[in-house]
Amino acid sequence: MSGRTLALESELNASELIALEEQYGAHNYHPLDVVIARAEGAWVEDVSGRRYLDFLAAYSAVNQGHCHPAIRQAMVEQAQKVTLTSRAFRNDQLPLLYRDLHALTGFEMALPMNSGAEAVETALKAARKWGETVKGIPANQAEILVASGNFHGRTIAIVGFSSDAQYRSGFGPFAPGFRAIPFGDIAALEQAITPHTAAFLVEPIQGEAGIILPPDGYLAAAAALCRRHNVLLITDEIQSGLGRTGKLFAFEHEGIRPDAAIIGKALSGGFYPVSAVLASRQILGVFHPGDHGSTFGGNPLACAVARAALRVLVDEDLIRRSAELGAHALQRLRGVSSSRVRQVRGRGLWLAIELHQPARPICEALQQRGVLCKETHETVIRIAPPLVISREDLDWGLDQIEAVLTA
Ligand SMILES: *Cc1c(COP(=O)(O)O)cnc(C)c1O
Repeated sequence: MSGRTLALESELNASELIALEEQYGAHNYHPLDVVIARAEGAWVEDVSGRRYLDFLAAYSAVNQGHCHPAIRQAMVEQAQKVTLTSRAFRNDQLPLLYRDLHALTGFEMALPMNSGAEAVETALKAARKWGETVKGIPANQAEILVASGNFHGRTIAIVGFSSDAQYRSGFGPFAPGFRAIPFGDIAALEQAITPHTAAFLVEPIQGEAGIILPPDGYLAAAAALCRRHNVLLITDEIQSGLGRTGKLFAFEHEGIRPDAAIIGKALSGGFYPVSAVLASRQILGVFHPGDHGSTFGGNPLACAVARAALRVLVDEDLIRRSAELGAHALQRLRGVSSSRVRQVRGRGLWLAIELHQPARPICEALQQRGVLCKETHETVIRIAPPLVISREDLDWGLDQIEAVLTA
């Protein structure tokens, strides 16, 4: 097998590692040049041993903090027993995850997948099939409404209804049956609903768009409208859920319960891709054996990890921490006097600083000071540290932001 040899692991420095990545990897990201080798809690460490405070938390996948010991223990223990059976056979972890998800969220049923985008696709399939088989929409006519500015993942169906030109450009043709309406505009929703509308898919707060909060009362009005017209309200809580906004789900801020909610990211505390659609028996009951599936979805390793990740959220009271620390951070950031800042907004430990200028140089200056943030849509800095962050560390990070913004 000449030519098929793999290099033994050796100590490469940051620039050598970056060069390898640039040469052999597709360039579908533009990361900050910090090469992380270890992490714990709210802190990450690069290959040269420099520590940084993580203000992104892997887009809220590590709400429980990096390498949480309880989740790690669950993962290692499960990895020593059985990791994958496929759903051709049952495993002893999936029923327990179902029970935990029901107990924690109140939804009647769940359908586990891996990535967030897969769970969104699953919810779209459920909504279409519910539309046909329960609501009585003629075959292949079901329409799903979405909000402009949405982010639901990167599959072809999903980017087909994105309003971001870059997400779509070059990837068509796209799936029909989706229609975008302005986010936060209840009259637009009312006008768009037809007898063929199966569902309205929406993020309670638009994360990737720059932590955009809809007007107060929007979700509650949308829920009432959907109920009146027999349209499913599906909230994408992949980023906003599991404590990030100071509630278990962001929809709770409006006292509503959607027909379905989609979770991912922090469902595994960052150890493993685990996602799920949560809904009623009537909705998820549309799936019959063979209708839908995933080789890895619901595997025992994923389920053990997810159960531990949910337990950490509860045991460490992370949802309340998010609310309290978030309120503190919002107040501090609103007090920063800088001509660069256009607006500070957020809910829970999920904040955005919208600037009058590109955010990337600010993020690079923060990296120099030991704080990792990522710009969102050019002019927005998103602040979303792990929910386990200490108040002292949070304040130190905010000090760095204040220093950079007022320099
Ligand atoms: C991250 C995200 C997704 C997609 O999740 P992936 O795991 O990257 O596929 C979908 N919706 C929202 C709101 C997200 O933040």
